[in-house]
Amino acid sequence: MEIEIATIGGYEEVGRQMTAVRAGNDVVIFDMGLNLSKVLIHDNIQTENMHSLDLIDMGAIPDDRVMSDLDGDVQAIVPTHGHLDHIGAISKLAHRYDAPVVATPFTLALVEQELEDEDKFSSDSDLVEMDPGESMTIGDHGCELEFVNVTHSIIDAINPVLHTPEGAIVYGLDKRMDHTPVIGDPIDMKRFREIGREGEGVLCYIEDCTNANKKGRTPSENVAREHLRDVLYSMEDYDGGIVATTFSSHIARVKSLVEFADDIGRQPVLLGRSMEKYSGTAERLGFVDFPDNLGMFGYRRSIDQSFERIMNDGKEDFFPIVTGHQGEPRAMLTRMARGETSYELDDGDKVVFSARVIPEPTNEGQRYQAEKLLGMQGARVYSDIHVSGHLCQEGHYAMLDALQPQHIIPAHQDLKGFSGYIDLASNQGYALGRDIHASSNGDIIQLV
Ligand SMILES: [Zn+2]
Repeated sequence: MEIEIATIGGYEEVGRQMTAVRAGNDVVIFDMGLNLSKVLIHDNIQTENMHSLDLIDMGAIPDDRVMSDLDGDVQAIVPTHGHLDHIGAISKLAHRYDAPVVATPFTLALVEQELEDEDKFSSDSDLVEMDPGESMTIGDHGCELEFVNVTHSIIDAINPVLHTPEGAIVYGLDKRMDHTPVIGDPIDMKRFREIGREGEGVLCYIEDCTNANKKGRTPSENVAREHLRDVLYSMEDYDGGIVATTFSSHIARVKSLVEFADDIGRQPVLLGRSMEKYSGTAERLGFVDFPDNLGMFGYRRSIDQSFERIMNDGKEDFFPIVTGHQGEPRAMLTRMARGETSYELDDGDKVVFSARVIPEPTNEGQRYQAEKLLGMQGARVYSDIHVSGHLCQEGHYAMLDALQPQHIIPAHQDLKGFSGYIDLASNQGYALGRDIHASSNGDIIQLV
């Protein structure tokens, strides 16, 4: 059976991930993501009503025209998790394929919301739920799709595996090796080891190289949780304002913040449109059980009312958890920093960033500005209370050891980002150009 892999997006950048695997006549697409930084660089662009070709030209979504060189039928579109760089282009591209979107429940709920928000295209793709650990048949030629449970900075993440008669194709985006996650099961390393040893073994491993230039091991979410506990408990006797921000989609982190708010005698309040969207979805699907007193407000008017109530009742009794961890100009924390809300920051008030600045000039500039503005109001900033969602080098070694793939395709980075991974794989006996395939957007690699 012929096996080809099209590296469509996310092979020259972090963002707009998309990869297609052809096994004989059957094609499976993994991820269809958005490169948000290419959108945000322009002021006030509304992607909801933009055409896909314009977004392709901007470099915001994958250029999927290479799909016409792949000689087969698309059987499934499989987003691995709910981050926008993995699902954000489904609303723009999925309607071109007569195939269902197959994903875990939380991811699928986010895809559904993306499709509802879309104005330009309407998709009639079937949305098919599949849980981690489950499999489904693909086409009529002996291929099977399996979801292996992994741990990442968003809940319900999986690595899909396409089992073919020539061996398994393991799509390794995105994960870290977490044995003590705050929500959900640990990464299923046992299953990866089995896949490496059963049948024809692993024909190809496509790997998330985000942190491939970083030595050592990515800590567990539990480490970030304990760091956060230490910081917040140290503020227990403070009788002024305490505010925190984190990734809205990072439900495990939001859960820790909410729990510690209660521990230090404050009522948690989630503020911001995406805070309400992600946490509301996670609670509705039963991934978290937030306390009854947790306020969740997404719309401007309800947010303004909530701030007024906090100021009237006394901000020492509340713990607002808000959007704006990267200093995004329209996010809640930035508005608070600019004095555009009724929440008044006083000398000594605490602002906790449970996030790292994404190392990119726009983010760095915006975050710098937000922190400066907060500082000018007297706020004390606690930054970087965070752990990464991506494997560092020791995790990559462990995955190679578990899977023992014949071929490797580094992904989720540019060439410079691949270099650390190519070095470490070379240490394990692989060779660039022979069985390590450093690929660009729009390439097709013929494996069999
Ligand atoms: Zn991700």
